[in-house]
Amino acid sequence: MTRRVKNRALAYTALTALLAAVLFGAYEYAEAPASQLFGSTVVSGPPTRHVVALTFDDGPNPPYTNELLHVLESEHVHATFFVVGRDAAAFPQILAREARDGDAIGNHTWNHAHLVVMSPGAIASSLARTDDAIERATGERSHLMRPPYGKRDWLVLAVARRLGYTPVMWSVPLADDWENPPPQVIAARILPRVRNGAIIVLHDGDEGALCARDRVRGCSRANSVAAARLIIDALKRRGYGFVTIPELLASSSASQNSTNRSSCVSAKSLRNCGETATRRMAKGLPRPR
Ligand SMILES: [Zn+2]
Repeated sequence: MTRRVKNRALAYTALTALLAAVLFGAYEYAEAPASQLFGSTVVSGPPTRHVVALTFDDGPNPPYTNELLHVLESEHVHATFFVVGRDAAAFPQILAREARDGDAIGNHTWNHAHLVVMSPGAIASSLARTDDAIERATGERSHLMRPPYGKRDWLVLAVARRLGYTPVMWSVPLADDWENPPPQVIAARILPRVRNGAIIVLHDGDEGALCARDRVRGCSRANSVAAARLIIDALKRRGYGFVTIPELLASSSASQNSTNRSSCVSAKSLRNCGETATRRMAKGLPRPR
């Protein structure tokens, strides 16, 4: 091989590597939780309110979700659960308790599949099937959705919006609590990143696995439950209040990323939605879907 051919091969390799790095960087940027490139999502609440929203993904997953509900009840805190449809259908009594306790419920798809690789019809079907399960358990449909893994594109968000969902992401970086680190580690990853209006994510399930029914290994969320109590206690000491996502939306006229305030409807009850929803009720307006 001549020196000239060698140099050309080196140049092509370097160019390919550079292109791959640029494409990967662009993808990472676009898929970041706060990115609005693919369309608007809720990332946080108003920075003027000293509140946070605790959210829990991938459940319900007994006994951990039940233990979590006990923690929330004893702490007098309400949270938002983004549930997986097949788990909601398997454990409707847990959803019923979430709704009864005053927690909000959002849609995390039927089986936690990557929405980006699905057709519009399949995305719609996954969301609708999940909401059927939520409605059977609680009597109400959800109007919040969170894409599994936070992965979305223009099509995913367009379908979600067309069906009346408000897509909800998060502002505090994930604590990887599903890898089961000690509760103190989970709390230490989250607490320094909490600001006014923060949306925090923990996991009470495992990507939609039917852990209790199928005896799946690695499904323990005991550390996430214990971390939730540590986080709540620490944030209470800092003077934070706790709100559900519908409550956050109701107070989010100043929020930079919430674009559709009228879509604030709780999964379980309009009372959590504050004045916007109350006004809609008073006017006899239909609930947005
Ligand atoms: Zn998830």
